[in-house]
Amino acid sequence: MIKTYTYKIKPSEKVEQKFNHLVGICRFVYNISKEVKEESYRRGLRLSCFDIQKQLTDAKKEHTFLKDVHSQTLQAVIDRLDNSFKKFFKGAGYPKWASKKKWKSIPFKSIKTTHNAFKLPSFGVVKVFKFKEPKGDLKTATIIKEADGLYLKIVVDEYNSKVKNRDSQSVVALDMGIKFFAVTSDGEYLENPKHLFKNLSKLRIENRKLSRMKKGGSNWKKQVIVVQRLYLKVKRCRLDFLQKQSTLLSNNYENVIVEDLNIKGMSKNKRLSKHILDCGWGTFFSLLEYKTNVIKVNPRYSSQECSKCGHTCKENRKTQSLFECVNCGYTENADHQATFNLLQRGQSLMEANVVH
Ligand SMILES: [Zn+2]
Repeated sequence: MIKTYTYKIKPSEKVEQKFNHLVGICRFVYNISKEVKEESYRRGLRLSCFDIQKQLTDAKKEHTFLKDVHSQTLQAVIDRLDNSFKKFFKGAGYPKWASKKKWKSIPFKSIKTTHNAFKLPSFGVVKVFKFKEPKGDLKTATIIKEADGLYLKIVVDEYNSKVKNRDSQSVVALDMGIKFFAVTSDGEYLENPKHLFKNLSKLRIENRKLSRMKKGGSNWKKQVIVVQRLYLKVKRCRLDFLQKQSTLLSNNYENVIVEDLNIKGMSKNKRLSKHILDCGWGTFFSLLEYKTNVIKVNPRYSSQECSKCGHTCKENRKTQSLFECVNCGYTENADHQATFNLLQRGQSLMEANVVH
């Protein structure tokens, strides 16, 4: 369960100054990133968050004050910009400049508690009224300037406080497939279990036999039971496999990004269907949702988009397994490459839910 705690920050000149300094840098970063993005659009390029972050690292050498802000905060600012552009492409208004009036918050991707206060990266100790330690995993925080002072909002995952020792920032994206059950953005290839496939092909054979028998006859009746038992076996095998995979992933990752697949629509497609496999994905996602945070993202063009330069076209995908960008030459396993796009999309979504 995700919960937000809001605290009023005890006013002090030091905190006020710090806030004004850092929020100014956030605005600066937002605005120069916006400029860079617009310039690249004019030249027909599409810069990803990743590219802008890289440019920002270079900019730190020139504008040393950027070092005053934690890099994760800068990332969150860039993701926020990315989101405004995404919303714009979906029909919302054009992203505005970050003005003093509009931009009044600083996002943080991590936070710690002391015995009576909070500690934010590159900001330091923040004392609040009515301090009460939040229960659960502290995920993200935001300092917001309201009309009557500064507030600290902390997003906490209550459920995950009980679970394992996974890092609250850990995140992985999965590309679901048939050859491999899934490929992760950390480069793991989860095999589809062979015993499941053995049973599946057996099931196909027994089903074919059944279809040739005279319906209602004694042989047919026996065969129905054979097929039913095999279905049950396949079902149990698969569930066992899905339980194990989802547990493994949730032990290691706080956030799992998956494709928002239209499973119903896909099973209408004869080539993809194999109802059985689709069914497995749906169950898998449900199991995962029960064990960890699942973020579903639009998988559109994720296999054709280059995660390095953003160039998107069919020709990028040379074969089923090879991705080679025709624009920048980046080469990677096609499924693994797709997970980087899903990861980026998911992380933007995660930010959008937190940044105010
Ligand atoms: Zn490329």
